[in-house]
Parts: sequence; structure tokens; C-alpha cells
Amino acid sequence: MPDRRRDAKPNETTRRALLGGTLLGTTGLLLGGTAAATTSPPSTRALSIAGTDSWGARPPRSEPVVLARPARKIIVHHTATPNSTDYSRAHAFELARSIQDYHMDHNGWIDTGQHFTLSRGGHLTEGRHHSLAAFDSGGNHVVSAHTSGQNRLAVGIENEGTYNSVAFPGTQYDKLVELCVALCDSYGIESYEIYGHRDFNATGCPGDRLYALLGQLRADVAASVGGDPTGVSWPLLRPGDEGERVRTLQHLLNEHGATLSIDGIYGPATETAVSDFQRSTGAIVDGLAGTQTWNQAVRDRENGDSGPAVRAVQHRLGTTVDGIFGPVTESAVRNFQDGRGLRVDGVVDARTWDELLG
Ligand SMILES: [Zn+2]
Repeated sequence: MPDRRRDAKPNETTRRALLGGTLLGTTGLLLGGTAAATTSPPSTRALSIAGTDSWGARPPRSEPVVLARPARKIIVHHTATPNSTDYSRAHAFELARSIQDYHMDHNGWIDTGQHFTLSRGGHLTEGRHHSLAAFDSGGNHVVSAHTSGQNRLAVGIENEGTYNSVAFPGTQYDKLVELCVALCDSYGIESYEIYGHRDFNATGCPGDRLYALLGQLRADVAASVGGDPTGVSWPLLRPGDEGERVRTLQHLLNEHGATLSIDGIYGPATETAVSDFQRSTGAIVDGLAGTQTWNQAVRDRENGDSGPAVRAVQHRLGTTVDGIFGPVTESAVRNFQDGRGLRVDGVVDARTWDELLG
């Protein structure tokens, strides 16, 4: 089921317009700025991200796909390369070239896997071609190769270094916060949609030390962009469980191609479907529905969508279950969000899914 353009929604337009208003005021105050100077989005220019043309990137093997919709989340990685003490821009460029070579020549990918790379010296480089332009547009997302199951939805940031036991440098952290703030502003991403790679795939990435910082990162980003920085937490379901949560899980698995009867019973068929789904998304395959399974299974749903995930939403809200997200469902979602103290936008995102699960 294709996702829909969220940037076209009235609430997103409003949010961006408000953001533009803030920039207008600031720029006007500081620079006595012109209208032209105030139309720039929060931006790559302010962050000094070096584009692929400046660090000597090879052309991609084929043209990266650019989706006409914004990214929905941010996923943080570490490169698992040595913790270099060369903090120069030249080293950051060398790193960008070596990663691209590895991804193209060893992994066989068309281009660098991630959208952005952040060196230990705090230098940012564009990874996959067109990522900068997509970022500045606020409405486009470049299909990437950094997290199985999420490459059409999430911006990937590779942080140079290995952070299993080594602390994440302050310079690098400060720049990571800046980048995430700009991405959240540009795409309308909530700070709670900032994740680590291990939240989705069977990997230790981004290392225990960097992963442990993600709560702080969400809070520091929220301090700039607003909203609730509390990370989404999912229930752990297992074989033998019964009830509404299992029913929701079954709908979501069907959304991804399973053909389960919606009986609310976590029996052998559901366990097999969970394992198959985990295998297909690069998650840990254990047949239990925990963090990785939910993070991979939920999809933002809003007016105009249809399918099994919409059925799950409708069932939880007590509206007519027809699998079509129309005005009645949207109204019910807005009422639910209002009652739970969530952002009231009618979009069932990760936070709203989390609340629906109860
Ligand atoms: Zn990773």
C-alpha cells in the first residue's frame, strides 16, 4: 500500500507556514532581510553539508529513486570504522569516498547507502546522490539502503566511529542534534520518530554507547522543534497471547502480505507469520512480536488510505470496519488523539499506534 503525501495535508502546510513565519521574523530582525532571503527552509546551507559534487563522489550506478513524499523518521547508525583522531574536513571527505566505494564495490549497491555521513570532527557530507535536494525540498525522500524494511520511509545518518564501549564525541553529538533538528523541521518529523538501527534490524548498530544517547538526542531535538520526545514503547506479544493487541498485530501482518484470520489468538499461524515478517525485514527472527516487529509493521495511516492496517485502526476506535480511511475514521482518530493528549492531526503515526494498542 503506497504511503501518501503528508506534506500536502493542511496541518503540515500550517506547520511549515508557521515555521517559515518564525524564520521570517528572525531573519528580518537580524538582517533586515528581503522576502527572498526568508523563503529558505531550515537548511543544509546553515549546516554546511558538503554535497556529493564537493567530496569527489563517483556517479551512482543507476539513478537513485526520489519519492514525492517526505521522510517519516530518522535512523541513527555508526560506521563501525576506527575511532579516528583526524578531525579534518579532508578526512571527512576521504571517509565519504571510502564508504561509497565499499557500498558500491563490496555490497553491490547503486550508490552510498545512507543519506548523510557525520565525521568525528563534526563534518557533514551528503551520502546518496540527491539527498541534499530532497532535504531542502521538505517534500521528497530518496530511496536508500541503510535499514532493511525502512529505506522508503527513513533518513539514514551514519556517524563515523564504533560506539560499543567508546563515548560519542561532543562535537559529533552537537552536530547530530543540529542535523536532526533541521530534518525534523524540513520534513515535519516528530522527535519521537528518531530511532537507532537496532530498533529495526538484527544488528548492534549504532553501538551501546550511542544507542544509549538517543533519549537525550530526542529531548535535545524536541527542545528546538517542540513536541513530546518520549520514545515509542511497544508491548511484547508471544504465542499463547489472546486479545485486541493480537488482533491489531494480525491486521498489520496482513498489511504486509500475510493471510491470517483475524481471531485475536497468537497461535502457530500467527507465530509463523511473525517469523516470516521478521525474516523479510532483517529483524531478529524469534516469532515474538516486540520492538523490531512493531517498528517494522506499523505504517502511518491517514485519510485516503485503505487496507488491513486501516481495519485495525477502525476496530480499535469502534467505527465501521470497512478498511477505508475516510472522514468518519479521521474524525474518530482526531477525537482519540485529543483525548490522549497527542498531536491532533488525524494521522495514525507511531505514537498514535502505540496509544491505540493501549
Ligand atoms: Zn546501522
